[in-house]
Amino acid sequence: MGVFEEIEDQKQAVPVLVAAAKAAGIDSSESQEMTHAWLFTGFGRERAALLFAASLLCRSGGCGTCSDCVTTLAGSHGDLELVKTDGLSIKIDDVRELVQRASWSPSTSNYRVVILESAERLTDSAANALLKAIEEPGLRTVWILCAPSDADVIVTIRSRVRVLSFVAPAALTVTTSAEILRLPFEIKDVAGAFAAAAKIVELAKSGAEAVAEELNDEEVRKAKEAWGQQGSKLTAGGSKAIKELEKGQKSRQTRMVHDTLDTILLDLAVKYRDQLVSGAGDSVAVLRKIDAIMDARGRLARNAAPLLTMEALMVSLRAGV
Ligand SMILES: [Zn+2]
Repeated sequence: MGVFEEIEDQKQAVPVLVAAAKAAGIDSSESQEMTHAWLFTGFGRERAALLFAASLLCRSGGCGTCSDCVTTLAGSHGDLELVKTDGLSIKIDDVRELVQRASWSPSTSNYRVVILESAERLTDSAANALLKAIEEPGLRTVWILCAPSDADVIVTIRSRVRVLSFVAPAALTVTTSAEILRLPFEIKDVAGAFAAAAKIVELAKSGAEAVAEELNDEEVRKAKEAWGQQGSKLTAGGSKAIKELEKGQKSRQTRMVHDTLDTILLDLAVKYRDQLVSGAGDSVAVLRKIDAIMDARGRLARNAAPLLTMEALMVSLRAGV
């Protein structure tokens, strides 16, 4: 299974990706399985996009160890355009430039892969500039857009991409339980808001930790095996590889906490939307709360500190505001 082993718990998505990668092989006759424009949503979508890119750029369909795989996973492969956005929005000029680069022929691989992270930050005009490119991407270009949910991109984009959603590991979904979602509705004062924020962040962190630890141990074990550990001694190359691996694992855990918090915020926004539809409460105040939630999502996506962000949010969600 190669690179996809890392996300083998994604029982729905992995077979789709494996089939697509297989069909992408130049001699394949199953090309209808391959799609040139994707939208990855949900938990760990950005990592999944890199893994999929590796399976397309690697000569062996994503072995996980060759230099194509390694450079793709590090985001530095020559035929990979990895677009991360620090700004509030992705503007039309950025997209035009990107569309141009995406149309170049691949230099060493069969494909040029464009990963557009935070596609939810496309302005409407930028999204429109992207339409033609993702509708007729060219035989050798593959677009992978990433957004928290498919509702986060405009419908004209959504209708032109194949949506693949990734689910949070079971241990993490527990944290978005009814209990967490009830918390904000029970806040009476600022102290209560801080306590609720601390509880939510704590649950997201411990959930991510539990899942990450299990993954980490397994990966380190495999890496040591691959580097031929004898006794407690590792080769110099082996210790370097393990260090790199551990660095990646650390940032994955941070991403997991962010993804978990983002899921909680989306679920929370839905609860307030339901409240709005049912006509319960002051609709202006509820709208303001939904805005505050979306604002917090944006700040987390820009790497704001989780606790501070959640504290500010919980203060604006408390009763009577
Ligand atoms: Zn490879």
